[in-house]
Amino acid sequence: MAQHQQSILHFPHPEAPPNGAIVEVAPGVRWFRLALPFALNHINVYLIEDDGGWAVLDTGIADDVTRDAWEAALAGPLAGTRLTRVIGTHFHPDHIGLVGWLVERFGLPLAMSRTEYFFAQTLRTHADALRSPAHLAFYADRGLAPEVVTALRGHGLSYLGMVTGLPTTYTRLVAGNTLRIGGREFMIHTGGGHAPEQVMLYCAADRLFFAADQVIAKISPNVSVWPWEPASDPLGEYLASLAALREAIADDAFVLSAHNLPFHGLHARIGDLIAHHRDRCAVIAKACREAPHSAGELVPVLFTRPLDAHQTGFAFGEVVAHVNFMIAHGDLLQRTGPDGLSRTVAA
Ligand SMILES: [Zn+2]
Repeated sequence: MAQHQQSILHFPHPEAPPNGAIVEVAPGVRWFRLALPFALNHINVYLIEDDGGWAVLDTGIADDVTRDAWEAALAGPLAGTRLTRVIGTHFHPDHIGLVGWLVERFGLPLAMSRTEYFFAQTLRTHADALRSPAHLAFYADRGLAPEVVTALRGHGLSYLGMVTGLPTTYTRLVAGNTLRIGGREFMIHTGGGHAPEQVMLYCAADRLFFAADQVIAKISPNVSVWPWEPASDPLGEYLASLAALREAIADDAFVLSAHNLPFHGLHARIGDLIAHHRDRCAVIAKACREAPHSAGELVPVLFTRPLDAHQTGFAFGEVVAHVNFMIAHGDLLQRTGPDGLSRTVAA
C-alpha cells in the first residue's frame, strides 16, 4: 500500500485505541484495534450490536499476539457478552485469519461473499498452484529478472500460516440485499480490485459505512494482478467500485475502514484514490512513449526505493494491474519481443 497526498478528512477519534483495546466508536459499534506483524501494523475489527450479543466484522490475523488480544478482550471488556456471528469482508489473512478459531470456539455462523469464501478455500486446498510453472511464467514473461522469479516461487504460500481455516458451511452475502444486524438494516455492497468480491456494509439510516479495505483514510489499498488470473483488470474493477460507492453512499457517512482511523469525507477520499491511480497511469504512459517497457522494467519507474524480492513481487503485481487496465482502454499496446518478453508501448 502506498502513501500519497490527500484531501482534508475529518477524524472524530483523532487517536486510535492502543492495540487490544476496545472503544465505542458509534452507538452500538465497538472498535477493536489489533496488531499486525507487517509494515501496516494494525487492523480495525468492529463489533456490531446484534440481537442478544455482538456480531464480529473481521477477526485479525492468526498469530499468538492476536489470539492473546482476543483472550484478554473476552476475559475483560467482552466478559459476559455473547458473540453472535462472524462476517468476513474478504479472504486476506488479517481479515479472516481467526475465523476458524472463533467459529469453532463459540459455534458461530460465518457470513461472506461467495467468491471470497471459495477463494479462501481454494488457496488452502490448492496451495501447490503457487509453485506451478504457469505461475512462475507470469513473472518471467513480463520481465522480472530470473533470480527474482526464483525467489518468488511459492509467493503467497505464507498465507496458509496466517489463517485458521473456514467452517464447511457459510451464509452468502449478496450485493444489493439487506442484512439485518440487531436493530439496523445494512445494504450489502461488494467491490473488486483489492480482493475479488470484498463485502462492505452501509446503514443509510445511521450513515454508517463499513468500508473494509476498499476505501481507507491514508493508504491506497493494494490493487494487483496475481499469477492465477494474469489477464485480469483489477484496477478497472476497483475504479468502477469506487464510482459506484460514490453514487450509493452519502458523503456524510461515517467511514469505518479496516485500517487507519474512521473518518468523514468519503467522496473526497474516493476522488484522491482515483487521482492516485490516474497519476500512476500517466507515469507508465510517459515511460512507454519513450521506449517499450516490460512490467518488470516498469517496477523501478513506479517504485524508486530499493525493494527485496518479496516486495518486488507485490510491486510487480501493482504495475501489471495498471498495465492491464491501460491495455484494456487502448492506451498501451502489448508486443512480444525477440527475447520472448512481453512489453508495452504507448498506443
Ligand atoms: Zn485486504
